[in-house]
Amino acid sequence: MRSAPAESRIVPFRAGCPLCGSHKAEPFAEQDGYDFARCRQCRFVYLDPMPGDDQLAALYNEVGGSDTYLAKRRSRTRRAHLKLLRFLPYAFAKDILDIGCGGGIMVSALGRIARRAVGIDISEGAIAFARATFPRHAFVCADYRETDLAPDSFDFVHASEIIEHVNDLGAFMAFLARVTRPGGHVYVTTPDIGHEALPPDVRQWDVFSPPRHLQFFDQDTLSQVFARHGFVTRRRYRDRKPGLQMLFRMPQGGGR
Ligand SMILES: [Zn+2]
Repeated sequence: MRSAPAESRIVPFRAGCPLCGSHKAEPFAEQDGYDFARCRQCRFVYLDPMPGDDQLAALYNEVGGSDTYLAKRRSRTRRAHLKLLRFLPYAFAKDILDIGCGGGIMVSALGRIARRAVGIDISEGAIAFARATFPRHAFVCADYRETDLAPDSFDFVHASEIIEHVNDLGAFMAFLARVTRPGGHVYVTTPDIGHEALPPDVRQWDVFSPPRHLQFFDQDTLSQVFARHGFVTRRRYRDRKPGLQMLFRMPQGGGR
């Protein structure tokens, strides 16, 4: 167990599991001085204590990453366009949001089929790049908790490799539930801690990397957290690598 960090850096999750609120958790694994717990009730795996906003802001300012983003731009663009076929039934002629949009490549790709494409990201550098590169689309530089996006404003929300990074899961889910129109869909990807291809020692898994990744889902816990916020599971896409790719739907009439 690490010594307690400064008080302002801790989100008080010791009050309970971020998914189900249960107070019964057991040690799961320790990595680089960070302790993961597993909820005994819902089996969710999460960092305890959870890093606070100050700690994460410092981390992402340090990492930057725009050079890597540019270097991978061509392959990312190709992959984004390959995904369009999958999204077509849910995003064609619709209003779409990409949360954690980075430099905007997926927004640009979805913008080819959507009525309106909006990207949101907390990184100023990424949003500046996106605005300069894809001027036809709207980009918002903000924390999801602080945006003024109207309720029920999107038919399709793309949230790829983002949910494992958020230190306030309830607020993130409330945001998704608020901006998704009844009948709309949310597409989520995140590492899969329940995947058969995981190494026997989870600490050897390359994405088991706190404090960038703060929590880990399997198909069951991801479905549970969406169900708690009114969504129904529509489908899971197969992935040979340890990743979840799932689609959720907000029922007509809303589930909130
Ligand atoms: Zn739980």
